[in-house]
Amino acid sequence: MTDTQAIRAAVAAAHAQHGADPGGANASYIPYLASVPAHLAGLAVVTVDGQVFEAGDARYEFAIESISKVCTLAAALEQVGPDVVREKIGAEPTGLPFNSVMALELHGGKPLSPLVNAGAMATASLLRAQDVEDRWRQILSMQSRLAGRALALSDEVNRSEQTTNFHNRAIAWLLYSAGTMYCEPMQACDVYTRQCSTLITAVDLATMGATLAAGGVNPVTRERVLAAANVPPILAEMTMEGLYDSSGDWAYTVGLPGKSGVGGGLVAVMPGWGAIAGFSPPLDEVGNSVRAQAMVAQVARALGLNLYRVPGA
Ligand code: GLN
Repeated sequence: MTDTQAIRAAVAAAHAQHGADPGGANASYIPYLASVPAHLAGLAVVTVDGQVFEAGDARYEFAIESISKVCTLAAALEQVGPDVVREKIGAEPTGLPFNSVMALELHGGKPLSPLVNAGAMATASLLRAQDVEDRWRQILSMQSRLAGRALALSDEVNRSEQTTNFHNRAIAWLLYSAGTMYCEPMQACDVYTRQCSTLITAVDLATMGATLAAGGVNPVTRERVLAAANVPPILAEMTMEGLYDSSGDWAYTVGLPGKSGVGGGLVAVMPGWGAIAGFSPPLDEVGNSVRAQAMVAQVARALGLNLYRVPGA
């Protein structure tokens, strides 16, 4: 375990150096996200032994957005296992934007990844549920157990998204017509939209990542949230599609499975060590937070965390 002094110093330095970087813009296609103060910047690390390090606005609550796709994937893996997820959703990068219709068209309606909008709605539809509320409860429960506290829907974010999510509704119907949607399509879209609308902090996000890093046991609450066998498929999906169409660049330059959201959150996971999470609203053209990428990458580099690094070499 890296000594706590080094982690504390790395977190403080990365926030000081990149917490006010210029560039990027808030997501504007969801009205709520456009209104979040752009100057906010938070950074957090949670280790597999439950230590928490933070800097800046690490306790500010922001919309989880696409990062929720990881939690829904975890819930589906727990119910149906990795083989069904791979067969019905897929385990490949799309190489296209997260809400791409073309990606679906090119692959016979198979989403390829649970971490794009199409794949996330199909993943939500895979859960065995009595009705829409039951499906939603299961997803919120997984988000909460990964974060280690009871998360809640923001009515404001949800309203903002439910009244503007026409593109996602179209994707849900395309999946249905291709036979790759496993519940009523508008129910899947509704639940997916809600799952994007819960509020989390950078500390929550680092705790979620640290739960994966610890093989499925939340290091803060000590609860086993998912089976250890379901963690590698999640990290593999994050490697391939976690930062959308710049996932390759992220793997090449940082070397850690990550996941971003258009709310400005980003988490990177080092298996067996812990997770680094950043938050800041301005996004690059792909949809990843400019400052969160810079802060998380700097912490990883400073502490020598890279999945592809050969130990001792
Ligand atoms: N709710 C957003 C959407 O469906 C989430 C996308 C994201 O964070 N990339 O478009």
